[in-house]
Amino acid sequence: MESRPQTPIKSGCSRPFKACLAVLILVTVTVIGLLIYAIRTPAIRGLVRCQSNMAEIGAALRRYADLHGSYPDDLSAIRKEYLKNPNVLRCPLDTSVNDRPSYIYHQPKPNSGPNFVVLVCPHHRFSTETPPARLVYLKKGIVKLELIEETDSKQHTNTKKSTKNKGMRKHPLGEE
Ligand SMILES: [Zn+2]
Repeated sequence: MESRPQTPIKSGCSRPFKACLAVLILVTVTVIGLLIYAIRTPAIRGLVRCQSNMAEIGAALRRYADLHGSYPDDLSAIRKEYLKNPNVLRCPLDTSVNDRPSYIYHQPKPNSGPNFVVLVCPHHRFSTETPPARLVYLKKGIVKLELIEETDSKQHTNTKKSTKNKGMRKHPLGEE
């Protein structure tokens, strides 16, 4: 006596849905886990802090320029009056023992475009296998991470030399 009722198609349909939901939850948990791991990694944490430091210095430089009509010659000009916390001049990954700013500063000229590199932080290397990275702050107010390739750094010194020949201030990155 085969009186077993046919399984309604509907309940069969919810199975893939449940599976999907389970996969979704698993993926979400994995992503959150990875995020927590990334936040706890000193290199990533340093990167985030450095990024906010640069944004703060950039804003202070703009305030200075608005008031004086031009950008300061060096970062010491904004240390006292324009920065709430002068510690932002130090990258958290800079291990040198002094209180000099960790950032390389290029003074923007009145004709410098929005992509002019104002600040460079060279203190970011994720591991010994990966190429060193640097954070740059552009005049338009954007902070971005750039990986430094070996060939790129060679070109760099060349650009440095050629700009030096023109009798200009050292702008290794110059206008983009
Ligand atoms: Zn940094």
